[in-house]
Formats: sequence, C-alpha cells, structure tokens
Amino acid sequence: MTAIIIILLAIFGAALGSFFNVLIHRLPQNKSIIKPLSSCASCGYKIPFYLNIPIISYIVLKGKCKNCGASIHWHHLVVEIITPLILIAVFFRYGARYNLHHVLFFKYAILCLVMIPIFFTDALHKIIPHVLSIPLIPIGLLFSLHPFSDLDFKNAAITALVVFAFLYIIALLYMLIRKQAGLGGGDIWLLTGIATFLGALNMPFIFILSALLGILWFVIFIRDRDLEFAFGTFIAVTTVFWVFAGDRIISLIWI
Ligand SMILES: [Zn+2]
Repeated sequence: MTAIIIILLAIFGAALGSFFNVLIHRLPQNKSIIKPLSSCASCGYKIPFYLNIPIISYIVLKGKCKNCGASIHWHHLVVEIITPLILIAVFFRYGARYNLHHVLFFKYAILCLVMIPIFFTDALHKIIPHVLSIPLIPIGLLFSLHPFSDLDFKNAAITALVVFAFLYIIALLYMLIRKQAGLGGGDIWLLTGIATFLGALNMPFIFILSALLGILWFVIFIRDRDLEFAFGTFIAVTTVFWVFAGDRIISLIWI
C-alpha cells in the first residue's frame, strides 16, 4: 500500500513541479497560467503532451526547446525533481502513522509545496506573487479549525495578526528612516500566511533562522548594500526545514 502511495505521490509531484515551472515563469510577468498550457519561453512553441513529461522530457531533449533549440534553464529540472521529493518526505514525516486523519500531511504538504514556486520567483525575479502568499492565510486558518490539527484557531489567528502588525510597523519605520523599502509587502504576506500554519511557538524560530540565513548569504556572496535582497527565498527554505525539524529542535531546547 505504501509503495503505491509513494508512486502516486511521485507522479503527482512531478506533474505539479511542471506546473510550478509555468507559475515561476509567468506569474512575475502577469501572464495567463492556463493558456497556453506549456510553451517555450523563447519562441512560444506549444509543447505537445508527449514532450511535456516531467523530468524525462528535459533529459531526452537535453534541456533544449525542440523547435528553436533555446536552452531551458536547469531550474526547470530541479523543480520537477524536488517537488515530488518534498511531497514524499512530508508523507513519511506526517503521513498515516503520525496522524490517521491525514490532516497534518495535507497541511504541511500544502505549506511546503507553495514554498517551491515562492523560492524560485523570489530568487529569479525578486517577486513573491500575492496569489501564492495571501491564500496561505485562509488555508492555514481552515486547517486550524480541524479537530485533529496541531494548532488551534485562536493561536493561528492571533499569531498571524501579531506577525502582520509587527512586520508592517518595521516596514514603516524602515521607510521613514532610510527612505526606501526594506521589507517588501510580499515578505509580510508570506510570513503572515506561514504564521497561520505554524503558530506562536514556531514563528520566532522562522524569523531568527531566515534572518540568520539571509545575513550569512549576504555576507558571503553579495556584500553590496544596494543590491536587491530576496528575503523570501530564505523564508521559504527555513519554513520547509522547520516543518521537518522544528519540533525536534524545540524539544532539544526545552530540556
Ligand atoms: Zn523554443
């Protein structure tokens, strides 16, 4: 039974990864994500279904468009591989053995999966699309209403409110002092959405870890103060990490 579930998750995950690639490419440009279903970013060639098999097509075509030969960025392949892997990992972490109602599997699968297109749109285009971040808020609140969830509604709602207000004030202060936007609206919505999933106990860790990760990256690789900084990528990585390791780290600290 488990083997069948994993195969199904792998197939679904790879197809979802293929769709994420469409989102990553088109959302920052405000293009339709449905029409055309899949096309070459260079020549617009509509990719037929037999050349649109996740992972396999990329390898068979050696990462090039069949029509114009333009190379397809390697992140397409990465997204198609990590999406099913993350989905399967969440199943092992929160699947049937952990919670018979599967509510935690669905909850953390949605949270982790949304982080994938957010990571790449922010890394490649410096944008966290609102259509990806804002729906996390009602979805997280809905999960908190489920009787077998690991977070109650009051915690989810209050944490989200506090996170939003806190970040909004910081963004305003930064704007007043430095006369430029430090924290983007995208980051604020994203962290508010994550707060409805993770609650008051986990959010301080998300803040501290993503900030540390961001600072480390900045010091090692960027060092240019005026360069735009994709904070959302670090929030996304930290969130996925925390879904898998957070409760263990917290229990270590509490001893
Ligand atoms: Zn092409």
